[in-house]
Amino acid sequence: MSKPLPFWKTKRLADMNQAEWESLCDGCGRCCLHKLRDEATDELSFTEVACHMLDLRTCRCQDYANRKIRVPDCVGLTPGELRNIDWLPPTCGYRRLAEGKDLAWWHPLVSGDPDTVHTAGISVRGRAISERRAGELEAHIVDWPGRSPRPPRPTKCATNCTTKRTTKENNSC
Ligand code: SF4
Ligand code: SF4
Repeated sequence: MSKPLPFWKTKRLADMNQAEWESLCDGCGRCCLHKLRDEATDELSFTEVACHMLDLRTCRCQDYANRKIRVPDCVGLTPGELRNIDWLPPTCGYRRLAEGKDLAWWHPLVSGDPDTVHTAGISVRGRAISERRAGELEAHIVDWPGRSPRPPRPTKCATNCTTKRTTKENNSC
């Protein structure tokens, strides 16, 4: 007998329960980076500067339950809000499903491992700065939060050869 399809392949976003909805977040932390919007052109720029509540190592909010109290302009995602938001990164689980895509291999729901979002280079770990020490946002404009995974990085295997890591599955030199 074939395995039943996971909930995100069978349910509409609006029909998911709270636990299912919350689990769509891959924990990348990209949405907790500050963005700048040009008032004249409406152009959006990403920065590498994170909300002070973001734990830069785990890439999780330090007080998720009270985030709206601690940071009043923190945006709570809902199925309805997704239609009005243009700043979610292309890697975001919510955005991918809203665009009719599947969750990517690094998503913890797919990989079964909460660390794959970090090892795949999707999360902000190691490349975000807290707003507490960043200074002017304009000095920290970057484009990587608006892009999909970084190019494959060379990695050394046990026999000291150098190979390109392309996907999780073929990383087997
Ligand atoms: S960008 Fe999307 S997947 Fe990443 S932390 Fe934010 S809500 Fe979660
Ligand atoms: S309060 Fe938490 S969830 Fe909201 S932007 Fe800051 S770190 Fe992210």
